[in-house]
Amino acid sequence: MLTQVGIVGAGPAGLVLSHLLARDGIESVVLESRDRDYVERRVRAGVLEQGTVDLLKATGVGARLEREGLVHHGIELRFEGQAHRIALSELTGGRAITVYGQQEVVKDLIAARLAAGGRIEFEAAAVGVDGLEEDAPVVRYRQGGQERQLRCDVVAACDGSHGVGRESIPAGAIALYETEYPVAWLGILAKVAPSTEELIYSYSQGGFALHSMRSPTISRLYVQCRPDDDPASWPDERVWSELHARLAMPGFALAEGPILEKGITAMRSLVVEPMQYRRLYLAGDAAHIVPATGAKGLNLAVNDVRILADALVEWYRSGRDDLLRGYSAACLRRVWRVQHFSWWMTQMLHRFEGESEFDHRLRLSQLRYVCSSRAAATTLAENYVGLETV
Ligand SMILES: Cc1cc2nc3c(=O)[nH]c(=O)nc-3n(C[C@H](O)[C@H](O)[C@H](O)COP(=O)(O)OP(=O)(O)OC[C@H]3O[C@@H](n4cnc5c(N)ncnc54)[C@H](O)[C@@H]3O)c2cc1C
Repeated sequence: MLTQVGIVGAGPAGLVLSHLLARDGIESVVLESRDRDYVERRVRAGVLEQGTVDLLKATGVGARLEREGLVHHGIELRFEGQAHRIALSELTGGRAITVYGQQEVVKDLIAARLAAGGRIEFEAAAVGVDGLEEDAPVVRYRQGGQERQLRCDVVAACDGSHGVGRESIPAGAIALYETEYPVAWLGILAKVAPSTEELIYSYSQGGFALHSMRSPTISRLYVQCRPDDDPASWPDERVWSELHARLAMPGFALAEGPILEKGITAMRSLVVEPMQYRRLYLAGDAAHIVPATGAKGLNLAVNDVRILADALVEWYRSGRDDLLRGYSAACLRRVWRVQHFSWWMTQMLHRFEGESEFDHRLRLSQLRYVCSSRAAATTLAENYVGLETV
């Protein structure tokens, strides 16, 4: 197979890139190791920044998002049995977040690409990228039990944190900066109307909890757990009991419902520098991982491919490659800002094993400050809705 841009991975990064390129007449083929049904059902992130929403709407894939997405103008921080509202829109000149499941974004993008004649090869797992030294990349992939090849001008590795794109770069050409957090999140999707209108980030003696939602009838809830916990050690009754304890506040009642899905997500930070090697470009989780506390993974992925699409359009149009050469540097400014914000939110909202009462009291002081100082609240708000410039 032959194309202009070979894209590995039909997650948000790969699909948005393919969509943006097509709008400028650039051809791409997306290789996806899973089947269509699997990627359309994979429950992950659900908080879209203002900039992500604006991009999806402006490029014609925002109609359902506009109808079904839940626009939120604030979030709640809850600690010491009290609720404190961070007025996102008021503090950021009207910007907001939209709650809309990642799998819905993926569904909309796949439908749009296929309707426009775009090529997405499902159950096509890339196994390696050759020809990088000769500037003639070839993605080798397996499909239907056969090894095939995709020849292209450039490769965009949008294949997540365990993809093959990054592994195809020679050792020594990139550096990895990473840290792991000694906490994880047990997340559930429950068939019950949310017990809150806005997201609640709660810090308590027992640890962190988050009450989020996906629709007026589906709630998404998380409790801090240990990274080595087995979901089997979290039967439904234990999950609800911890949620009740960690979200407790006078006058607040948490509604329970059947648990539709349950999973544990590790908390880690990773940045790959640079995010490119010759004609291979890394985007999204393939280039960086952020702990979920900042709700940024998907948004960062979309920002990378917005920059990459602009650079590729310029290259195909005029032959100028300065934007492509500057791709990594252009992305990394936001990547590191978001890393810091996600690390800060994680430190502020979790209890860590072995820490002292001193640490707990420092954290409460930080929370009180964020909720009582307009300047501190604005710092949280502008990062949470997504900075316009970094
Ligand atoms: C389990 C989990 C839970 C998460 N929960 C949250 C959350 O609650 N809140 C939040 O803000 N963020 C969350 N995130 C982060 C967020 O979902 C990601 O940042 C986002 O999916 C990044 O998009 P992406 O397109 O870069 O990567 P992905 O969405 O991972 O897409 C990569 C795609 O590449 C495909 N692929 C991988 N290898 C190959 C290959 N060799 N050949 C072909 N295709 C391949 C994969 O199947 C996948 O479809 C979660 C992530 C994970 C992994």
